Amino acid sequence: MNDFATRRSWGPKPNYPTVAAVPKQDWPLIVIAGPCSVESHEQIDVIVPVLRSVGATYCRGGLFRAGTYPPPQGVFGLKRDLMEHWAQAVRQAGLKTIIEVLDIRQLDDLWPYADAFQVGARQMQNYSLLDELSKSSKVVTLKRNMGATLDEWLGAAEYLARGSAKPILVERGGSSFLNHTRWELSVSIIPAAKSITGLPVLCDSSHGSGRRDLVEPLTLAAIAAGADGFIIEVHPDPEKSLSDADQATPLERLQTIVERAAVLHTLTKKWRTS
Ligand code: PEP
Ligand code: MN
Repeated sequence: MNDFATRRSWGPKPNYPTVAAVPKQDWPLIVIAGPCSVESHEQIDVIVPVLRSVGATYCRGGLFRAGTYPPPQGVFGLKRDLMEHWAQAVRQAGLKTIIEVLDIRQLDDLWPYADAFQVGARQMQNYSLLDELSKSSKVVTLKRNMGATLDEWLGAAEYLARGSAKPILVERGGSSFLNHTRWELSVSIIPAAKSITGLPVLCDSSHGSGRRDLVEPLTLAAIAAGADGFIIEVHPDPEKSLSDADQATPLERLQTIVERAAVLHTLTKKWRTS
């Protein structure tokens, strides 16, 4: 295992043998795009065709919200009526669905609609959830918690990888003293993770900055640093997003970002072998 990740001489030694044994490989560019929250049938019908036309891999859409602060009305509910329509529209367009799961009790409800699951930053060390997901053969994106180290992130991924799930690592920024961003995307953690494991590593610069003007440059920086793709929150009318409005990228900008990321992704692949 890579020495850079194991500087501490006391305490448990980093231990993620399955993750570290994943062979290094070139992944195709993975694009997970969609709104922060699925808001309405109309919103779904506007967003999905655009994702299809830009060649996105997955459509994301929060059907449960995981927020820093609780919602005024009590709980973040499951938008059951929208889930059916959303999953159908996404799949009919030839895309895959990805749904955040917060709790083991939601799994049965979400299962038929989720081609992949997202484990959000706040659930990164929810080991009973990770264990349950590891029994599936689904793709599971695992976001780095805002306070987690590289080792802790990979340790959490080990819970998934030692089963039959297919983990994807997502860097989504951490807490820092900087106050020009909501969270601070770590570009360095991307090649550091990739030096240890062949699992795909994505960036989420929407949450990793909290600022729409920084999403594109940070996404491109992460791809240049070796990321295999990205998560991006898009909205047809960003200012009117019901959640995370400050970081929503205008839907019409998505094509340019995907095209630019694809160029960098191809270049970095070439550079890795030269
Ligand atoms: C999200 O993707 O909508 C989300 C809540 O992400 P995170 O877990 O990174 O905060
Ligand atoms: Mn969000």
